Amino acid sequence: MLDHLHRITMKALIQAGGAGTRLRSITGDNLPKPMVPINGKPILQYQIENLLENGVAEITIVISKNGQPIVDYFGDGSKFRAKIDYIEENEPLGTAGALGYFAKKCHEDFLLLFGDLMVDIDWHRFINYHNEKKSGLTAFVHPNAHPFDSDLLVADPTGKILKIDSKNNVRDYFYKNVTNAGLYVVGEEVLDYIGEPHKSDFEKEVLKHFIEIGKAYAYSSSEYVKDCGTPDRYESVGKDEREGTVKAKNLSHKQKAIFLDRDGTINVFNEFVNNPDKFVLQEDAAEAIKLINASSYLAICVTNQPVIARGEASFETVGEIHDKMETLLGKGGSYLNGIYFCPHHPDKGFPGERPELKFDCDCRKPKIGMLLQAAREHNIDLSSSWMVGDTKMDVQTGINAGCKTILLTCGDHRPLPKYDNAQPTLTCSSLLEAIKTILEIERK
Ligand SMILES: [Zn+2]
Repeated sequence: MLDHLHRITMKALIQAGGAGTRLRSITGDNLPKPMVPINGKPILQYQIENLLENGVAEITIVISKNGQPIVDYFGDGSKFRAKIDYIEENEPLGTAGALGYFAKKCHEDFLLLFGDLMVDIDWHRFINYHNEKKSGLTAFVHPNAHPFDSDLLVADPTGKILKIDSKNNVRDYFYKNVTNAGLYVVGEEVLDYIGEPHKSDFEKEVLKHFIEIGKAYAYSSSEYVKDCGTPDRYESVGKDEREGTVKAKNLSHKQKAIFLDRDGTINVFNEFVNNPDKFVLQEDAAEAIKLINASSYLAICVTNQPVIARGEASFETVGEIHDKMETLLGKGGSYLNGIYFCPHHPDKGFPGERPELKFDCDCRKPKIGMLLQAAREHNIDLSSSWMVGDTKMDVQTGINAGCKTILLTCGDHRPLPKYDNAQPTLTCSSLLEAIKTILEIERK
């Protein structure tokens, strides 16, 4: 929290030159897309207010020839207590072209935002990550409800970006739901790389270059960043703003989560799922998780996968199974904010096992290591969270963590006498019923 006492001294550059052709029905012919009103206020103003709340007060806005309404509205920024100036492009220079002009007055790391996004994030966290990684260029990534038509940033476990998986690729494979949101912390070396102003695409040229030299990182967050580029998305952003979801998901505020068991809860119980073919989503899983995504809760999967310790599946295979889960949920318009799994198992002495994973760990449910890790990473208040699963062991996990619990009667019916005394807060017949019940309680 101490960090929040410090103002961020970085400057911000907002790329607000886009034409917004898909929003003509809302903007009329001449209104630039960042001026589209959300509940009576331009989307660009929400961005600027979010930057100001984080102490970022020096802002440069890139405008195109039709950008005069932006200048008329924001002026020099004084009525917003900001210092705003403009770069006007006489001809469109692409998403990175104006950086050449910006380089003439900025010689340090800065923040880059695309002006058609609804944004409410804790920039301190984002910048701290960029600094810790000694990153040259850090992209904000998150799961979204339409990964199948989004550019994905594929990263290694340390967060270093390995490649861009373009939305134009024919994806005949399973993938993680890590979409590029359009917010960056940009290292000053990017400005050196850009040089003189010229037509350039930020993702296809600049980001691609920094990936190739191994200096681009992905910062993953569950905070609210959504584009309003279609009438449907515009409507849903307006609703989220009215309901307070946009602000609530800022990680400077405590979050609440619905923790979901995997086997028998998200996917059909099928003994040990040790390859992707055995993973079949429950019929109502995407619909149920979509309801969580639209609510103020985070959706987080916590699963014991002793198949790894037993040598029946490798870490890579479990990763592929989770890619399948994310791909299928994404096709159903839903996503998980986190997936945590325990690869351990306490009982030694089986053929083929991996001895290094055979120990009494702190993460195997009903221990709460995975929930504690999620709580740290997403700033979650466990006492206002729920644990949903199909075994009494899940119920015991939730109780141990101080969560409310729901036992599902649709999954694994093997008796677990050890946890027979665990009493769930509620019992439901399916995941969908459970989520509807939680959200109903929330409304009261
Ligand atoms: Zn473990």
